[in-house]
Amino acid sequence: MLLINVLVAFFPTRVKFKIVPSYTIGCGKRLVRGLLIPMGETNPNELSFLPKALSKTFRIMSFEISSENLNLPLHAYNSARRQYNSTILLEYLAITKPRGYEKYLGIVDADLYAGELNFVFGEATLNGDSAIISLYRLRPEFYSSSADEELFRARVLKEAVHELGHTFGLTHCRNPECVMHFSNSIMDTDLKSAEPCSACQVKLFRRL
Ligand SMILES: [Zn+2]
Ligand SMILES: [Zn+2]
Repeated sequence: MLLINVLVAFFPTRVKFKIVPSYTIGCGKRLVRGLLIPMGETNPNELSFLPKALSKTFRIMSFEISSENLNLPLHAYNSARRQYNSTILLEYLAITKPRGYEKYLGIVDADLYAGELNFVFGEATLNGDSAIISLYRLRPEFYSSSADEELFRARVLKEAVHELGHTFGLTHCRNPECVMHFSNSIMDTDLKSAEPCSACQVKLFRRL
C-alpha cells in the first residue's frame, strides 16, 4: 500500500509553526541504518544537516548520505506535466538502491506527481523500506517568498520524518501539530512539528 502526502492546493502565505514537546523514539539498543539518496540534480550539500536532525527523532537510527546521486529514470518523467511520477521513482529506488541498509529515503529536487494528483510532497511504502521526498515545493522561493534556509530545512526535515514514519507503519494522524498529519498544503507543513505526537510515538514504539 502506498501512502501519498499530497499538496493539492497552493497557499503562498507562510504561517508560523507551533512547537510541540519533543519526543524520542527507540529503545537505544539496536541500530537501524538509513541511507539518504540524493536523486537527479539534488545537491547533497543541502542535505548535510539531515542525518543528525533525523537521528534526534529516530533515536535508534543512524543515517548516512549516499556518496553518489542516483539518476532520475527517463521513464518516470511526464513531459506533458513536466513532473516525475513518484510511484515510478519509488519502484526504481527499490530496484536500484544499494544493499546494507534497512531504510532508504530518495531525495529529489524535481516536481513530483502521483496518479491524478496535481503534485505530491513525497511518497512512501507503508511498512516498507523506501520513501521519496521532493525538495521542489519546499523552498520559500517557490511561493514567491525570500529564500530562508532555516525554513527550508525545517520543511525538509518534516517531510523526511513523515515519509520515514510511513515506512515504520505510521498512518496519517488527526493532530495538526503531529508530523504524521496529512499536509494538504505548505501551510499544513509549516503548522506541524517535526516530531510525532505522543499517540504516534506509542505506535512507533510498538513497531520497533
Ligand atoms: Zn503521508
Ligand atoms: Zn500523531
